[in-house]
Amino acid sequence: MRLDRFVSKSTELTQQQVSDCIAQANVSVNGVAVTDEATQVHENNLVQFNGQTLVPRPFRYLLLHKPQQTLCSNVDGVHPSVFSLLDIERPSELHIAGRLDADTTGLVLITDDGRWTFNITSPKYACYKTYRVDLAKPIKEDVAERFANGIALQGEKGLTLPAKLEVISAHQVLLTLTEGKFHQVKRMFAAVGNKVVKLHRQRIGAVELDVPEGQWRYLTAEEISSFY
Ligand code: URA
Repeated sequence: MRLDRFVSKSTELTQQQVSDCIAQANVSVNGVAVTDEATQVHENNLVQFNGQTLVPRPFRYLLLHKPQQTLCSNVDGVHPSVFSLLDIERPSELHIAGRLDADTTGLVLITDDGRWTFNITSPKYACYKTYRVDLAKPIKEDVAERFANGIALQGEKGLTLPAKLEVISAHQVLLTLTEGKFHQVKRMFAAVGNKVVKLHRQRIGAVELDVPEGQWRYLTAEEISSFY
């Protein structure tokens, strides 16, 4: 992680105070003063601030049941940010591992561990995300096969990765994807002549949504390690 982040995660200093103390050569790595805040440091490096050894706080991992008309953003906009639902310290250190649209509900994973997020969001790791989708028109018979083979989305090179469609009823399906292009579910159904009227994410990998709307909980050790 970057040196400024390491210092931030080990102290109660503000971002500006962290930058100042690094610029003033008050921080050393393995005994050598370092003034470039972008320097990469590892857990086994000895990082000291004015001679005191710094130990970063452990990463945090949680899940939230996102209500409609909330934003997967660190700040409020036209709607409140999902972070306003978290009654925890230093929410600004956290980010969302796979955003949802403002009108989508369901499972959102939140953390301050960038490597963990990469494992969830990068198509390279094929992490399954399952959505319950309500549709304006009855689902056509050929859609499962078309999604399994991959379809072309407007403005995208190549086809979508194979996706699994399970029909619950004429107007409701489950769709499981391993990627997360912008508005992907809505665009996939638009590409086959249908329209999403309600979208809800119920599962990411081994993590199933199990708290009421607007509530959150920390992940278990087993859930965290399932993405490593
Ligand atoms: N696909 C969408 O279209 N919207 C979401 O919020 C998530 C996946």
